[in-house]
Amino acid sequence: VPETQRQRLFFALWPDASIREGIGAVRRNALGGVGRPIRPENLHLTLVFLGEVEPEGRMCAEAAAAAVRAPAFELRLDDLGWFRRSQIAWLGAAHLPRALEDLVNGLHDGLSHCGFPREERPFKAHVTLARKVRSAPSVVDFAPVPWLVQGFALVESIAQPQGVRYAPLAHWPLLPEG
Ligand code: ATP
Ligand code: MG
Repeated sequence: VPETQRQRLFFALWPDASIREGIGAVRRNALGGVGRPIRPENLHLTLVFLGEVEPEGRMCAEAAAAAVRAPAFELRLDDLGWFRRSQIAWLGAAHLPRALEDLVNGLHDGLSHCGFPREERPFKAHVTLARKVRSAPSVVDFAPVPWLVQGFALVESIAQPQGVRYAPLAHWPLLPEG
């Protein structure tokens, strides 16, 4: 397969404009200019990282996505944190909704049939706010962002001279809530 047909892909929750604005506001208020802020248009929550994928793998992954049955849910982004190893500051959810757990597990089940290695680390729902954050940000009060999640996306990560850009390629709806 020619290299040009390979794509760097991941499944993600992709915020709409208002959620994106809400996450960006938390980033500005809580972190200011600390580290290297993620550009607003790049803010997302990774569900499963696939890596460099050939066209067949993408087709299999899209079929796996289409087969997932999980309900819509509310994700309350109420937890600010910092990963020492990767030096990122993030906004996450203190409570992992059952529907989100089911969605991630459902994707993993389908993807295992596509030959993707299963992620060993436990899933941690988080939106990266800034990179190159060298020390734990100080604790601040902030208004949680309530995110009504009604679907998920397959996203391509495109390396560009001015930095990575993410392009949603396909979208699947979740089942109506309740
Ligand atoms: P760059 O790698 O160019 O600095 P990036 O990390 O934002 O930028 P990608 O590496 O393409 O871009 O990652 C896309 C998404 O997948 C990001 O949310 C990233 O955190 C996540 N990701 C990347 N690699 C892994 C991995 N090995 N396991 C889990 N998630 C990953
Ligand atoms: Mg990376």
